[in-house]
Amino acid sequence: MILSGARKGIGQELSVVNVSKYYGSFKALENINLMCKPGEFVSILGSSGSGKTTLLKVIAGFERCSDGKIFINGNDVATGPCFKRNIGMLFQHYALFPHLTVAGNIAYPLKVRRLPQEEVDKRVKDMIALVKLTGLEDRFPRQLSGGQQQRVALARAIVYNPPLLLLDEPLGALDKNLRHDMQFEIKRITHSLGMTTISVTHDQEEAFSMSDKICIVSSGRIQQFGTPSEIYERPANRFVAEFMGTTNIIPMKKAKYEKKADGVFAVTGTTPLSEKPMLVTAGESSVRTGEDAPFFALRPEAIHLAAGGSYDNTFSAEIKETIYLGQSVKAKAESGGLELNLSLSVSEFRGLKAGEPVAFGFNAADTALIYD
Ligand code: ADP
Ligand code: MG
Repeated sequence: MILSGARKGIGQELSVVNVSKYYGSFKALENINLMCKPGEFVSILGSSGSGKTTLLKVIAGFERCSDGKIFINGNDVATGPCFKRNIGMLFQHYALFPHLTVAGNIAYPLKVRRLPQEEVDKRVKDMIALVKLTGLEDRFPRQLSGGQQQRVALARAIVYNPPLLLLDEPLGALDKNLRHDMQFEIKRITHSLGMTTISVTHDQEEAFSMSDKICIVSSGRIQQFGTPSEIYERPANRFVAEFMGTTNIIPMKKAKYEKKADGVFAVTGTTPLSEKPMLVTAGESSVRTGEDAPFFALRPEAIHLAAGGSYDNTFSAEIKETIYLGQSVKAKAESGGLELNLSLSVSEFRGLKAGEPVAFGFNAADTALIYD
């Protein structure tokens, strides 16, 4: 049993194989493949209506998948009842028991599992401290704010150390400071217990700060599944590049591909930014050598004043707007009819002269090649 206290490595392996879900003729999930190793923290990131909750429901067994299989520790669970899966769950519209107090709600899963009263009391107390609700033990849900209720629901979902934990927007009702604290706490708890955790969010920053892996979904399909750095540095497509925050998507024409000794391709082509061809690099798996009009994603922070160093590519741009943020300066610039987002250091910003074209540079390695 998983109830004998906090143990390392309680996490289960989850694999979702070719799962689709239809509501009538509407395809809410299409051919989803997802693999979570024991103890991994995976975020499902996508905008509203993309299918995130549906995916959790299918994993939890609240919804049958129309097609495909789900394995927990190698066992096919698609047909089994959900209570057998021993999954910890926190749903978006968490339902606390209205007739139970804070302590009673959190104790509930332990009582169902018939833990000794002493152990129940200890765990409930620890959990209440963890979610910062000490002093509110005897209140009823209706006497709590939305954020407090959400923390009770979270505590109830994790109090029995479930080997697989599913969280649907667990921090949605919290204000910013508490959100940050709770991000840290959830990560600490799940990592220290080794729970495998799948957490749904529409917040990029939250996904980045908490996850071992991120799964980006849109319209019921996985756009990319990878580590935060893979997703940020090597977006699989334009959707991912744009979804992960401000970036610049630069079209290329007449692209030529040259494979280098280390398997990396050097891609040169013309862009609106400059008369000179530009150079970007890409791994073999992300290259389609037959296509001569790819795009590349270029992060605002990869663009620097050309005067400050030597760069693979340089171009001239006119600064249109700047916003001083203290640590950095956000700027909008125009070059070759493209509007560019820049993020400059304060010292670079001081070197700018208003109304004059400025030479900027970036390196091939700081780009990501994309096709669609
Ligand atoms: P998310 O959690 O990413 O916001 P959902 O998984 O809740 O999205 O929903 C995905 C899509 O499936 C939406 O278009 C939604 O309207 C639809 N949907 C969800 N549940 C049902 C249902 N029971 N019947 C019909 N359509 C549904
Ligand atoms: Mg949802």
